Amino acid sequence: MTKNAKTRLYVDGPLGAGQTVLLSKEQANRLFAVMRLSVGARVALFNGADGEWQADVVEAGKRKGALVCDFQSKPQQNPPDLWLLFAPIKKARTEFIVEKAAELGAARILPVLTEFTNSERLNQTRLQAHAVSAAQQCGGTFVPPVEAGQKLEGILDNWPKDRQLLFCDEAKVGQAVADLSTAERGKWAILIGPEGGFSETETTRLRAMEQATSISLGPRILRADTAAVAALTLWQMALGDWG
Ligand code: SAM
Repeated sequence: MTKNAKTRLYVDGPLGAGQTVLLSKEQANRLFAVMRLSVGARVALFNGADGEWQADVVEAGKRKGALVCDFQSKPQQNPPDLWLLFAPIKKARTEFIVEKAAELGAARILPVLTEFTNSERLNQTRLQAHAVSAAQQCGGTFVPPVEAGQKLEGILDNWPKDRQLLFCDEAKVGQAVADLSTAERGKWAILIGPEGGFSETETTRLRAMEQATSISLGPRILRADTAAVAALTLWQMALGDWG
């Protein structure tokens, strides 16, 4: 019986039976210097589109390497159409949010700049790498794109008519948590505010939006990173792919 690999690697190129995949310098370093794999080792590859493939190392250099795909071990599985919008906070906590959103099954991650957003400069490439690393570790075949930071105001100006918005509203702390299981399935987004919360202007606008459902996340005010995990969990349980 052919064994499946323990090591998983996200790659850019196409995957298919007999397909050769060339590694970047960083990927070769990870597989051959850090993990000490050599020619003949088995690695599971995914590219976000073609599922997961078992592949064998055929070249293992210091700065380059190559693998050849054998068979598909998992079909492509995309998450539900759920975006996570969050106001970036401190670097490590922002990275935590991206990592957890990728693990919990967000389809797109959008850092949003609100009136009270107070964060260090966003490094989109680094955040995307965190999403890739989370997907590698959690066995997923999909990597959510992490967008550049955008102003919340501009996003709301162009909000798609057919996308529901779960607005996590700290002013509702202590109220009953909404039962989402009867809500309409389909395209959704979750919105989490910054440490300072939403401004009055933002709250008024969000509450008035036709597509928005304003919800409480329980009796305590959660830090933004905790709130993101709680809201993703709540949504996935009621409307997502956990059922
Ligand atoms: N400074 C704000 C205050 O004291 O009201 C709290 C902001 S909280 C740290 C960050 C974000 O997490 C909020 O903007 C909201 O989106 C979400 N959040 C935290 N706790 C929540 C709760 N109990 N209900 C709804 N949303 C919550």
